[in-house]
Amino acid sequence: MRCSKCSAPAVTYIRYNGSHLCRSHLLEFVERRVKKEVRSQLKLEGDVHIAIGASGGKDSQTAVFLLHKILGCRKNVRLTAITVDEGVAGYRAQTIPKVQELCKDLDIEHVIVTFDEVAEMDLDGMVRRTDERDACTYCGVFRRRSLNLKAKEIGVDHLALGHNLDDMAQSILMNFMRGDVERLARLGPHERVQPGLVPRIQPLRAIPEKETLLYAMLSELPFSDAECPYAKHAMRNEYRNIVDEMEHRHPGTRHSILGSYDRLRPLMRDGFPQSALRECACGEPTLNERCKACEMLEKIRKGF
Ligand code: SF4
Repeated sequence: MRCSKCSAPAVTYIRYNGSHLCRSHLLEFVERRVKKEVRSQLKLEGDVHIAIGASGGKDSQTAVFLLHKILGCRKNVRLTAITVDEGVAGYRAQTIPKVQELCKDLDIEHVIVTFDEVAEMDLDGMVRRTDERDACTYCGVFRRRSLNLKAKEIGVDHLALGHNLDDMAQSILMNFMRGDVERLARLGPHERVQPGLVPRIQPLRAIPEKETLLYAMLSELPFSDAECPYAKHAMRNEYRNIVDEMEHRHPGTRHSILGSYDRLRPLMRDGFPQSALRECACGEPTLNERCKACEMLEKIRKGF
């Protein structure tokens, strides 16, 4: 098959728009949409320090590479990669060297924050005291806390996450089906700066997972495809199956889900305005008197 834009051999078929793309047109197609997201999500006035949550997987490695490619030449922009080491035996040991390798190649600062530092316990320890099926719930709460704490410690203005289009469609559907409209309205990217909370940006939110994988492979980025041993318990798997099935039967479904969400977001924000955040005794921002991480730690220490 030949590329729909030139006569070079195609490396992929994009089902949702019916085009065949060669290597260079696929790279260009991804970069164009990421640039558009970066332009719409970031205001680059004065000195800006952006941290990228870097796990060593294909998405975050693509995010590190592309943010460096798009913004690395600007003198007023500083980039730092932050890796959260949850403390899962044998897992992060495979992924962290990939982040180190890419950051060294691109001359980007790389810092690591561990669950041990922010919760005095690693994820394996949490799971041993409670139930392995809850691993992803603990992980999500303490990963957000770890990234926010480290980002504040090193003076970051924006935190970029490598969420791709599939992740976004799954999260939108998941919050919608759980009836959690407040969380749905706050999915990001963050447009409002809340005290104590580093605003998140999502430069890959319009890029399907398969395209970030192809981008990483065709750009020869180092990345790990190691799977976390707790991933089999993630509730997200059910939503992934639904979105994949619908996308297979009706190409373009993921774009429609994200497009509908973006159109409804201003209405949700008006209907469910975020309450002013308070400060938990641990110093982190919270909606209630105590933050989720402190509540969870108390339960974990008690063993339920
Ligand atoms: Fe954390 Fe669950 Fe992902 Fe493992 S699969 S890294 S426990 S969210």
